[in-house]
Amino acid sequence: MILFKQAASLQQYLQSIRQEGGSIGFVPTMGALHKGHLSLLETAGKENSHVICSIFVNPTQFNDPADFEKYPITLEKDIELLEQEGVDLLFLPSVLEIYPNGTRNLPTYDIGFLETILEGQYRPGHFQGVCQVMHRLLDIVQAENLYMGQKDYQQCMVVGRLLQLTGINTRLHTCATLREPDGLAMSSRNARLSLSQRQTAFTISDVLKNIQATIQPGPLSSLLESSKQKLELAGFKVDYIALANARTLELKENWDGMEQLVTLAAAYLGEVRLIDNMLIQSEK
Ligand code: AMP
Repeated sequence: MILFKQAASLQQYLQSIRQEGGSIGFVPTMGALHKGHLSLLETAGKENSHVICSIFVNPTQFNDPADFEKYPITLEKDIELLEQEGVDLLFLPSVLEIYPNGTRNLPTYDIGFLETILEGQYRPGHFQGVCQVMHRLLDIVQAENLYMGQKDYQQCMVVGRLLQLTGINTRLHTCATLREPDGLAMSSRNARLSLSQRQTAFTISDVLKNIQATIQPGPLSSLLESSKQKLELAGFKVDYIALANARTLELKENWDGMEQLVTLAAAYLGEVRLIDNMLIQSEK
């Protein structure tokens, strides 16, 4: 694996790959890698001649400074995992490399109502930060294919919108969420859970699975309310639990039984904020 810290030298190398007719699959991450990240890299490896992973904990997407401070960093182990996975290239830029003119006065992006609902509502500024870093990374890497996780459902939609807005010629692939045996979606933040919190954490996926299994056409508020109560009973502080149109993320209070929906939740266990989502099968 070749490690690049500078955008210019990476770009030069990627240019030579392109000249030889190679294709580039890109997996951006914030490190503290787990099997979920590795599954994206594996898919990228199957569909491209070269795979590049970036590790960059982007300060501009953390609306909560404490979350940024405590974000797990496991660089040595990450490099070992990437080597094992056979990843060709690692981009490990500094903040200055990504934001040479500083983090103030960065562009803002018109991502419409995605900015005001769910993650957008509870993490003000977060998606502007995601757009800022992704715009810069996509400009540098110019990948044919970009691989992101369904785990961050709304983020995938925001990046899809960013690709439209910028006209960057990269195809976004949304990959399935990898889970622990008890159902908990893998996440770098899981490492911050205490043992007892970890034992409770699966409840978030359980509650979503229950919505998936029991949803009926008609009003949705009582199902959402009882799901919220289950989370609270298990010790979560709930930001939201919602049902939305799977394509537009328009929030739904009623279901006709046909529309493809997604159920999404975000909740704190202690100081750790977990998110998860599951698609609802419309043939139910
Ligand atoms: P992060 O390092 O958390 O920014 O995640 C980097 C990429 O990995 C994002 O596209 C995430 O959606 C994706 N990802 C995170 N967790 C999982 C998971 N459990 N399964 C699949 N992809 C994931």
